[in-house]
Amino acid sequence: MAKIAKKINANLGSFLSHFVSSTHEVFWVRAAASDEFYYVNQAFSDVWGRPVNELLANADVWMNAIVVDDREAYRQHLSRLAQAQSTQCFHLEYRLVRSCGATIRVRESCQPIYAGRQCVAFMGCTYRVGEAPPQGRDDYARQFFQFFIEKSDTVFWVSGFKDQPTVYVNPAYQKVWGKSCESLILDPGSWYESVHEEDRDKISPKKLMDAASHITPPGSTRFRIRRPTGEVRWIREKNFPIRSALGELIGCAGIAEDITEDVRWEAELQQAKLHAEAANQAKSDFLAMMSHELRTPLNAILGMTQILEQSSLTAEQRSQLTVIRQSGSNLLSLLNEILDFTKIEHGNLKLVQERVDLHSLLSGMLSDMAVQAAQKGLSLRQSIDADVAPFIFADSKRLFQILSNLLGNAIKYTKHGYVNFQVTSLHSNSREATLCFTVEDSGIGIEKAKLDSIFGRFQQIESVYQRKHDGVGLGLAIVKELVTRMRGTITVSSEPGVGSQFSVVIPFEVDPFGVSTQPAALEVASAEICEEALYPLTVLVVEDNKINQKISKTLLEQCGCQVTIAENASVALKQSLAQFDIIFMDLGLPDMDGFQATEKIRALDLGRRIPIVAMTAHVFTHDLERCYAVGMDEVIAKPIMREDLLAALKKWSPLVHA
Ligand code: ADP
Repeated sequence: MAKIAKKINANLGSFLSHFVSSTHEVFWVRAAASDEFYYVNQAFSDVWGRPVNELLANADVWMNAIVVDDREAYRQHLSRLAQAQSTQCFHLEYRLVRSCGATIRVRESCQPIYAGRQCVAFMGCTYRVGEAPPQGRDDYARQFFQFFIEKSDTVFWVSGFKDQPTVYVNPAYQKVWGKSCESLILDPGSWYESVHEEDRDKISPKKLMDAASHITPPGSTRFRIRRPTGEVRWIREKNFPIRSALGELIGCAGIAEDITEDVRWEAELQQAKLHAEAANQAKSDFLAMMSHELRTPLNAILGMTQILEQSSLTAEQRSQLTVIRQSGSNLLSLLNEILDFTKIEHGNLKLVQERVDLHSLLSGMLSDMAVQAAQKGLSLRQSIDADVAPFIFADSKRLFQILSNLLGNAIKYTKHGYVNFQVTSLHSNSREATLCFTVEDSGIGIEKAKLDSIFGRFQQIESVYQRKHDGVGLGLAIVKELVTRMRGTITVSSEPGVGSQFSVVIPFEVDPFGVSTQPAALEVASAEICEEALYPLTVLVVEDNKINQKISKTLLEQCGCQVTIAENASVALKQSLAQFDIIFMDLGLPDMDGFQATEKIRALDLGRRIPIVAMTAHVFTHDLERCYAVGMDEVIAKPIMREDLLAALKKWSPLVHA
């Protein structure tokens, strides 16, 4: 007998192993730190209704089958058992949902396994004790919701007040905070200890309570935490109050997301934005500087050309001079387009609202265009409806720019035939009028596929290597921007080889009392040079550049003026200024700049206000605004053109202002 007992004892392990693998109770051994199973017998598949392999591949299968209401109690039992360092077996009953959907009751006996003082695993035996009432729809919904929450990377937590600080936290807490969920259940304040010292004020438990009790409105808070490894993570958390059916505040729930990657992206984006802004600023500074530097020699070329044109020349010399003037003018338009483009990019393009004599604006523009059209042998026809308001409120320079750009293109892209310009009034009353300007040509036309892109920046139909026409493809982009800023629209229709039609519709305020001095149908001025008026005025030109001095002096003398030159501001201020009818002031002067010089002149008591006209290559909006702010009356952009000088003399002549 003793011999048999000894033999059995010697082989007890293998007998028990055989017994355990073939019994109807589920025998299992699983890790304490995770839900991983070291062993489970075949009976699992009978009780859970799922294959053993499924559990070994995914330990969650065990927990997920447990009815939600029982699951947390089960987890807490395990966690308490691990902490208690008890070697005692504990018994528990819970419900689980089999794969067929049936809910059954099981009883479990569980024993912790220690390695030294540390609980490393649990072993146990689970067996079926009976059926449980089937779960309702709410139970399933709760179960699925719990399943979803447990899989989520976002931390969900629920806490009660005082006696039950943390009721629930999902496994994502472990991933995000780097601490176990059990540690939080056992020590509810431990999450706050992880909060970065500098961010603790933002998320103090008092703040949480205030938010929960609606003292402060609920909102999301960003703060940093430090994981036990020292790694810092960014968290975005939102809290909600939980109230009983009676409205009593019973707890608080929250959602916390790890947004470390988003914060890093934001910082990188912010950095990139700062770099881009700095680069853009550098580009603007460069353009402003280039604009100034290019305008200075261009001033010399165009100025001297204008002076030479007034001298006696052979026909051949005059035609050579025309080529120089036209090339200079093209260069100037290009420079102006690039500047406009920069202003648009920086939101610096400002429109003024002034009373415009529409008929005189159109006749001036059509005179210029008629010369260009005539040079190409094209007929420029125009028609302006009799009901078109003669006086409107608009930015006259920009309206001129829109229309002359469209007409200029029509002439540029037409070899034979005609260019038609038409103005109609689509709608008008005593206060406003919607006008339609149409430019039609019989030119090369534009392919349908390219029609949309021509209003884009730097868009040209011709390839860079097969170009027959001048331009950088900015004109229409600027026109479109200007039209849009005037609350208008621009449309185009075109057929290759037949021609194009551009229509601009803009609503304007009108001056109901304005009566046009122009005939309804405009007489397009001929290409002949008109007799220019002379202005016998005494003018002072404050300018340091020798070439510019010569150009201004000669052009002004040709306009009938008597000119004194001051090479800097100090020399100008020493003059008896009251003798001058107008002062022309350069801005960049060696001793003090034109702004300061103007301020000094304005501070003198000269008995009357002498008009001061700035002559500058600085044509950015802020330069212009500063000119007016210091007391200048007008700004003429360099290169100085005879027409601009004549217009300024006409406007500021004391004969006119007397
Ligand atoms: P560009 O300075 O090159 O003329 P625009 O912006 O004024 O630039 O025009 C863009 C492109 O649209 C031009 O390059 C040209 O191909 C096309 N285009 C504009 N107007 C006409 C027109 N009236 N007839 C044919 N093509 C035109």
